[in-house]
Amino acid sequence: MTLTIGTAAAKPGEIVYGEYVLVQHPVGGTDVAPVVIAQGQEDGPVFWITAGIHGIEHAGIQVIHKLITPELVKQMRGTIVAIPALNPAGLRTLNRQAYYHDGDPNRLFPDGRLSTSTDPDHAPISALEQAYGRIFEDIKNSASFYFDLHCMSNGSLSFIFRDRILYRKGDEAARKRAAEVSAKMDAMAQAYGHTVTADFAVEKYINEKLHRATTAAVSMLVGIPALTAELSSPYTPAPEVVNAGVTGLRNVMRWGGMLGGEMEPITGIKVVDPGFATHRRSVARVTQSCIVHHLKEPGDLVKVGDPLVEMRDAWGRSLGVLHSEYDGFVISRPSGILYYPGESTVLLAIRDEEPRIGEYPETYFD
Ligand SMILES: [Zn+2]
Repeated sequence: MTLTIGTAAAKPGEIVYGEYVLVQHPVGGTDVAPVVIAQGQEDGPVFWITAGIHGIEHAGIQVIHKLITPELVKQMRGTIVAIPALNPAGLRTLNRQAYYHDGDPNRLFPDGRLSTSTDPDHAPISALEQAYGRIFEDIKNSASFYFDLHCMSNGSLSFIFRDRILYRKGDEAARKRAAEVSAKMDAMAQAYGHTVTADFAVEKYINEKLHRATTAAVSMLVGIPALTAELSSPYTPAPEVVNAGVTGLRNVMRWGGMLGGEMEPITGIKVVDPGFATHRRSVARVTQSCIVHHLKEPGDLVKVGDPLVEMRDAWGRSLGVLHSEYDGFVISRPSGILYYPGESTVLLAIRDEEPRIGEYPETYFD
């Protein structure tokens, strides 16, 4: 059966191009997402790759452009389905969000709960959420594994966010599937070869609706291994990050049996392994309004007690230094150096004591 996504229908040995209708505009016209399908001559896995769900994150678009070439198609088996621009409205207006959906577009994949709202004041799901629901179904029906490409903040590491896989308490089959997909995700992340860290602990993860992010929904609800790759700075990509992203995805294809040859080394970017599993935490919250001087760079290993940032007043006088409460490494620094009290100035990867799979919170399905 021919794999068809939007108007693109796969052809063995070829790269085909098409469009996926997302949202109809009120004054005519539609927002469509570009679709690229590359298929080898031989059957094999279907590797989905998407990018640009956040409109300021552009490196992933170039990674897809550079990955899919006629030379690759000659060597590969199986199929790549790529959508380089999941959020065209956000991308063309250089906004994280789409102007026709108020909220983070990467929190719109299904959450596994039945919609029970009968409240007339509760708006039905937006056009964009409906569109992403259709894409989720296409991924569910065709993907063997999946990568969604993002960017973090200026100069941040290029790294993988590994979702935690949640399952329903008492559902042994679901627990088993969670363990299996989790092991595959670890192997896939290792093949990609960039730095790896888990996302927040379960409670904050659900509070932030991260279980409705693209890769979380696909891995958790369908059992397809899926990873979010953060490709360093938003806006203009660094060429070495794009190249390392392309190399990483080719290595994932080798892991998945789509491409032969040795795993290629990841070069040109920092890859950090502190020797223990980590998850992200926003730290170094300033105690007063200040200008921040960072004392550690993304990729630096830190130990408890190490100085992270110096707070200064606008005139340059020191207001004190904030020290790390954790062992780990610096993932990124938020944009800018001007902070109000309580704001976090460093994103750290810290030791992760929680298992990578876990039960949904007690009240989740109520
Ligand atoms: Zn993003």
